[in-house]
Amino acid sequence: MIYLDNAATTFPKPANVRRAMNNAAANYSANPGRGGHTLAIRASEEIYKCRSKAAEFFGEDNPENVIFTLNCTHAVNIVIKGLLKPGDHVVVSDLEHNAVMRPLFAMGKQNVTYTVAKVSNTSADETLNNFREALQSNTKLVICTHVSNVWGIKLPIERITAMCHQYGIPVMIDAAQSAGIQKINIRENNFDFVCMPGHKGLYGPMGTGMLITPHHNKLETFMEGGTGSDSAHFEQPDTSPDKFESGTPNLIGIAGLSAGIDFVKSITTEKILTHEVNLLAYLYDRLSTNRNIVLYTPRPTPQTSGGVLSFNVKDTDSEEVASYLNKRGSIAVRAGLHCSPQAHRHFGTEEIGAVRIAPSYFTTMGEMNALAQILTKI
Ligand code: PMP
Repeated sequence: MIYLDNAATTFPKPANVRRAMNNAAANYSANPGRGGHTLAIRASEEIYKCRSKAAEFFGEDNPENVIFTLNCTHAVNIVIKGLLKPGDHVVVSDLEHNAVMRPLFAMGKQNVTYTVAKVSNTSADETLNNFREALQSNTKLVICTHVSNVWGIKLPIERITAMCHQYGIPVMIDAAQSAGIQKINIRENNFDFVCMPGHKGLYGPMGTGMLITPHHNKLETFMEGGTGSDSAHFEQPDTSPDKFESGTPNLIGIAGLSAGIDFVKSITTEKILTHEVNLLAYLYDRLSTNRNIVLYTPRPTPQTSGGVLSFNVKDTDSEEVASYLNKRGSIAVRAGLHCSPQAHRHFGTEEIGAVRIAPSYFTTMGEMNALAQILTKI
């Protein structure tokens, strides 16, 4: 099987991630923060170790600003539902995933409105300008994906954040497709809210994610419960991370995530990005000579893209192509709308979807070649 669906979740997970999870399950899978016995303390230490590692990796000074979540969607919901009040306005890019659009749409019932800013395919200046023009006097949050999960287009999040801060508006970044692949430094860029999965570019297991924010004091909770701290009171603790981490945490998953961050650090995000973009640029060149293939974006480069490229076969439904690749070539890709109808409207593919290719660090040039080859026969 050639697995090219790493934008959904990376597979395989590195050997050190599997070992770490196995070790946690076998040797210290006790409930962290809930008891004073040796195993519970060992489990708490593992969680703190991962928190500190993630903080350092993303340029955040305080490990307590790292909140563990179930996935990226959970992190996004903590911000959208915790920050916005009736009458607030939000600006989003036109490449957002339903992880953003659905909670935002749901907030419409509470009289929260939004404006969509168009992302330019080629000009960061134009994108920035579109975001600026969409701001209103009641804009309380700007949301942008770092890298489009459909088109691989990278947004100028550093410049968007700096521009929004001139107007005193915080920015939430959806780093679902960039965490582990693109450099993200929170303090250096004053990023406000960064949401990410642990199971994609950080090579951790599914069921892990993080919200990293120095501004958690601005967020209300939408879920309360036991935290193992301040247990005498019914009132939810007011300090991060306990405020947002009610209930038993995913210890085994977090042990895996910690090892995933080690894996990425040992290779470096720069090398991972270069590897993935090189593979996609090679595929792009092969596909651009195939008259049956429709490409949408400019040729991928490390400066402008992440590890995703989508295309269509002329006059063919994207799902049919994905099914053909699966059956005939044992190639796993994702077709359809990728939970991002808005991103598909960007290139007019909302009816037919697109075939998405998402390599990982483990993908080889030989696998890209096999894909390009089978597409000549389709
Ligand atoms: N945002 C983007 C851009 C994504 O690609 C995804 C996952 N497809 C998500 C959010 C949601 O991530 P998760 O599945 O970890 O909740």
